[in-house]
Amino acid sequence: MGERGTQGDDSMLTTQVLDVERIRAEFPMLSSRMNGHPLVYLDNAATTQKPRAVIDRLVHFYEKEYATVRRGVYTFSQDSTRECDLVREKCREFLNAAKSSEIIFTRGTTEAINLVVSAFGRKFLKKGDTVILSTIEHHSNLVPWQQLCEEKGLTLKVIPVDDRGELLLEEYKKLLSARASMVAVTHVSNALGTVNPIGEIVKLAHEAGAWVLIDGAQGAPHLEVDVRALDCDFYCFSGHKIYGPTGVGVLYAKEKHLEAMDPYHFGGDMIETVTFEKTTFTKPPHKFEAGTPPFAEIIALGPAIDTIETLGFESIAAHEQELLEYAARRLREVPGLRLIGEAKEKASVISFVMEGTHPHDIGTVLDQEGIAIRAGHHCAQPTMRRFGVAATARASFAFYNTKEEVDKLVSGLYKVVEIFR
Ligand code: PLP
Repeated sequence: MGERGTQGDDSMLTTQVLDVERIRAEFPMLSSRMNGHPLVYLDNAATTQKPRAVIDRLVHFYEKEYATVRRGVYTFSQDSTRECDLVREKCREFLNAAKSSEIIFTRGTTEAINLVVSAFGRKFLKKGDTVILSTIEHHSNLVPWQQLCEEKGLTLKVIPVDDRGELLLEEYKKLLSARASMVAVTHVSNALGTVNPIGEIVKLAHEAGAWVLIDGAQGAPHLEVDVRALDCDFYCFSGHKIYGPTGVGVLYAKEKHLEAMDPYHFGGDMIETVTFEKTTFTKPPHKFEAGTPPFAEIIALGPAIDTIETLGFESIAAHEQELLEYAARRLREVPGLRLIGEAKEKASVISFVMEGTHPHDIGTVLDQEGIAIRAGHHCAQPTMRRFGVAATARASFAFYNTKEEVDKLVSGLYKVVEIFR
């Protein structure tokens, strides 16, 4: 779909500026209409639209290549297995992990975090240990840890944020000086867009002897991740938020942890030998992938990663930052509108409330204009509480969004003002 730097005639890019119209043409859903209007899709933090390459890969696989993985001796099954292995390797490169066996396929970020909580946390965290989260976690990176804390008598501590939505690192340092064993924070907040300084968070945690999990659900779609440079213990993301299929996600974990962890689920494809007396387990990654994996979705995750890498994170970030800044400027002009979350480092999310109007009403008016945004607590109720609101309206951008779409959003918001004034 394009390439970085200088390129031939058929590239969508000129010196790293995205040719958004050509990119959009690769995403069939973007030419849909909603309520009589061309769709303006601004709910990318919830899930992204799919490029034709991903859809075609799924269809071709189901129509012409479909066979299970790992168990077959026949050609189609061996081909499926090889395709999955290639995507595992692609994920390794995407995160710059050292080995593809450090890449575990899960159903998504939620399952990846539950896997770490169950298979690592339950085994290695002991009564009296501390789990440190931030105020701005998605429930997926909060509830599993909270349940573990209740079960094992761990102490849950929370890094506060300032009024812009930035983590208070001095407070974090104080929490670390207590008995810290596990730090679990989001790379990017889904409710505010804050980009957390995960490099520093990991460094400080390791100095204090704590392990770190980074919830990359909102990081991986927008920012280049290098787990080796970062040195985090765990990093995870969801396929459907990086332009890939639903039902598949990735957990990266350091090899030494995967070796030490017990399996998460038990069943087929994760054993070495089984007798009624005893079962021995196979090595990572398969030790953590019991049962038939979502192999069609895994295979179609490949072209999703290719799409991102072809465009390049530098170009993606430049485009998305421009949109974000433009949107923030235009939204501030709307009477009675207040932005929630104005961190200096933000990625692709703009959350807001409007005087006298419930976010759901904002969403409903915009829906009638063909504009899809999210309204609610965004599975981040503690974040909402911190900012004194029950819910926000949220527009979230991808590399295929345009300033014209931001203008339509703003026009829609003026309609909201008229209706609810
Ligand atoms: N973490 C963050 C920051 C998210 O934004 C989300 C989803 O919105 C999740 C975790 C959960 O992702 P999934 O539902 O794909 O498992």
